[in-house]
Amino acid sequence: MRAAVLEEHGEPLSIEEVDAPEPAPDGAVVEVEACGVCRSDWHGWQGDWEWLDLETQSGQILGHEPAGRVIAVGEDVEGVAEGDHVAVPFNLGDGVCPQCQRGHSNTCENVMPLGFIEAVQGAFAEQVHVPAADHNLVELPDGVSSVDMAGLGCRFMTSFHALAHRADIGAGDWVAVHGCGGVGLSAVHIADALGGNVVAVDLKDEKLDKARELGAVETVNAEAVDDVPGEVQAITDGGAGIAMDALGIETTSQNSVMSLGTRGQHIQVGLTTEEERGMISLPSDAMVMQEIEFIGSLGMPPTRYDEIFRMVSTGKLRPEAVVSETIGLEDVSDKLEAMTDFETVGIPVVDEF
Ligand SMILES: [Zn+2]
Ligand SMILES: [Zn+2]
Repeated sequence: MRAAVLEEHGEPLSIEEVDAPEPAPDGAVVEVEACGVCRSDWHGWQGDWEWLDLETQSGQILGHEPAGRVIAVGEDVEGVAEGDHVAVPFNLGDGVCPQCQRGHSNTCENVMPLGFIEAVQGAFAEQVHVPAADHNLVELPDGVSSVDMAGLGCRFMTSFHALAHRADIGAGDWVAVHGCGGVGLSAVHIADALGGNVVAVDLKDEKLDKARELGAVETVNAEAVDDVPGEVQAITDGGAGIAMDALGIETTSQNSVMSLGTRGQHIQVGLTTEEERGMISLPSDAMVMQEIEFIGSLGMPPTRYDEIFRMVSTGKLRPEAVVSETIGLEDVSDKLEAMTDFETVGIPVVDEF
């Protein structure tokens, strides 16, 4: 099968013929119909996240946002069959550890990050193998296309879990979203659907325009103002109730915390770069005085996708609205390159392999 293979960090991916996967006894092989290109792929391409034991090695196939059709299942798989139309969450769980048993498989003790480790090759390829298929595969509702759902296994569900499950979003709460890449734009749309008043913050006007289309009522161009948190404080008349760092650099994380009002909740969704290596300094005294919460949020357990699907079926959520363009496998490297300067808007999706 054709695949885009990482040879050297930061160098164009190599388009190669590689062996197609065979299903493990508990696994399934999915023919990839669509796969989003994400900033996490950019981190993998850069060779970041050694401090998380996730530094990619030569030979890795990246790509962790696939949707497609099941074409083979292992002998122990019971709930998934050939022909099923599925999305694949990026943070695959084993389905059996205490975290998985309690419904928190996004923080599985044996989490298998799709496309970052040799044992779990990614989906910038014609086919992808999914371990613990009964647990991990999410059957898509009828009438939705793989391209429309390509962000569902990563950015869309990540933002949904952060806002709907981790934070206490209430009617009319001000929600400040710092960074309007794929996860940030998804957060704008979801926070709006959940009843929040969204302030979107980014450096690029075209991303802020997209945020307005997706429901932001106010936007802040961080390049055009001296004091981003002060600007959000002014717009929200005393600070946001919820703020999200949807990028993962020190500036956006600090701006997010400092844009909150008393008893506000900061949600950290972005993982950091080589610059921070997971360590960010925060205004802890102000956080104590104002009882500000710092919340980490990772992916979403596959068992809760039905909540998204109910909102999709009534048109309240439109994952496809965040998809910006479709590309071929050989275009992935260009998109990764463009992410270095934050030049992609929304989610580019590979649909030609
Ligand atoms: Zn992703
Ligand atoms: Zn587990």
